[in-house]
Amino acid sequence: MTRVGDAIAYVRFARYAVPLAAPVSDAKVATGRQRPLSQIDVLTCEIGTRDGLRGLGFSYTTRAGTPAQYAHVREVGESLLGRDPSDIGKTYEALLWAGASVGRSGVATQALAAVDVALWDLKARRAGLPLAKLLGAYRDSVRVYNTSGGYLQAPLDEVKERAAQSLAGGIGGIKIKVGQPDMKEDLRRLAAVREHLGDGVPLMVDANQQWDRASALRFGRAVEDLGLVWIEEPLDAYDAEGHARLAAALDTPIATGEMLSSVAEHIGLIEAVDVIQPDVPRVGGITPYLKIAALADHAHTQVAPHFVMEIHVHLAAAFPRESWVEHIEWLAPLFEERMRIEGGRMAVPDRPGLGLSLSGRARDRLIDDVEFHGSGR
Ligand SMILES: [Mg+2]
Repeated sequence: MTRVGDAIAYVRFARYAVPLAAPVSDAKVATGRQRPLSQIDVLTCEIGTRDGLRGLGFSYTTRAGTPAQYAHVREVGESLLGRDPSDIGKTYEALLWAGASVGRSGVATQALAAVDVALWDLKARRAGLPLAKLLGAYRDSVRVYNTSGGYLQAPLDEVKERAAQSLAGGIGGIKIKVGQPDMKEDLRRLAAVREHLGDGVPLMVDANQQWDRASALRFGRAVEDLGLVWIEEPLDAYDAEGHARLAAALDTPIATGEMLSSVAEHIGLIEAVDVIQPDVPRVGGITPYLKIAALADHAHTQVAPHFVMEIHVHLAAAFPRESWVEHIEWLAPLFEERMRIEGGRMAVPDRPGLGLSLSGRARDRLIDDVEFHGSGR
């Protein structure tokens, strides 16, 4: 008889700070709301089992939050020991209840995302399958667009050069940031990039929530003939009614969702927009992400996940209708492996699980870590 069940014997949480090659600014910086982004803070979770399997997961924050996530998992993480790592939902709920007084969204669940991703990675490794295959893949690669070359601090010539480099490197689309205080400057950069790339290259814009409803409509009407793939975060992330009106008024698809931190926060927006953009670490892990994806599929809304391409390539490959994954290479120093990109597409890794391992160089970025060990049996 096959033995069913394994037990978590080891858990390690670690905080890393991954500096960017150069700080970047989006519209939140241009409007004075945030400082330029200079590093990504990452919380990793490594899980080992009695049967000798391992899983690796991670969460992240920008500007603030990872110390709080780390403090949270230090408190609740030891309770993972002895649990069957295959029972992901049950384990996730147990951790939710352990931290119930700090809620089911935001920092608390973003901390749990590292655990949840590690459990899914482990489960796929146990099956000997890439995560996309464990979930049920529709494709073995996904269209990919670059974001990191299109920030607002970059002069127009640099944006054009980075876009050309991305396309030469096999990336299939380009996104640039907009949402500056002077909309004419946005329109000027966008027209120049469109002219530089030609009509055939898929192009998106991202306003990072910096317009009011009237400004977003004005911008959207001004760019209708540019054939944009989408206009991203035109409005405040929680303005479902505004997004619904904008999507109804414009031919260009409207995308949003990256700032939302739970399934519940996504529900009103899934119905409102053309493209929903959940982010596994921000919504609390793969377990809640899959609920969002199911709701989006039911509503015939497209799903184009935000950032962390290393996780999202699997989830985008497992969604019925193909959209895009976002190419931002900032986390590359943490991992040994590189994503394979060619012909406008990112390949799903053929290795088991997420197909990721922490790199030797990651140690240089380590801030703090903690381990929990079980009794061994
Ligand atoms: Mg965005």
